[in-house]
Amino acid sequence: MTDINTKEELKKRLTPLQWHVTQEKGTERPFTGCYNKFYEKGTYTCIVCDQELFSSETKYDSGCGWPAFNQVLDQGRVKLTKDTSHVGGNLLLLIANPDMVRTEVTCSKCGAHLGHVFNDGPKPTRTRFCINSASIKFHETGEEKCNNS
Ligand SMILES: [Zn+2]
Repeated sequence: MTDINTKEELKKRLTPLQWHVTQEKGTERPFTGCYNKFYEKGTYTCIVCDQELFSSETKYDSGCGWPAFNQVLDQGRVKLTKDTSHVGGNLLLLIANPDMVRTEVTCSKCGAHLGHVFNDGPKPTRTRFCINSASIKFHETGEEKCNNS
């Protein structure tokens, strides 16, 4: 992780929302992210370290209010972690509602929080990567259409 800016430099470079989402595991409000209804052809990279994460080929409209992908460019580019934070470690609640366990998606290179993955997506993968627009940056040859600000 030596090639990544220090936290202070990063905080200056990112918008407050990008910082909140990637570094404090925040979630942007649904239907507000600039990539929610965005289907240009290109590649999405991590907003923090520029690692390529998702392709527009796998992006689809899940209706959930956040950008959704059914596949990662490469499985090694993200880290998946079981996230029980919103049940507050309440095991009884968890046992009664197993669906409440979400899997957190983070960038494998810099650890930035990207979003969550669910298994209610379309066939054949059934995978729905629900990703914050604030965590990713779209790259298309030649122009930028969205700057997340
Ligand atoms: Zn990253």
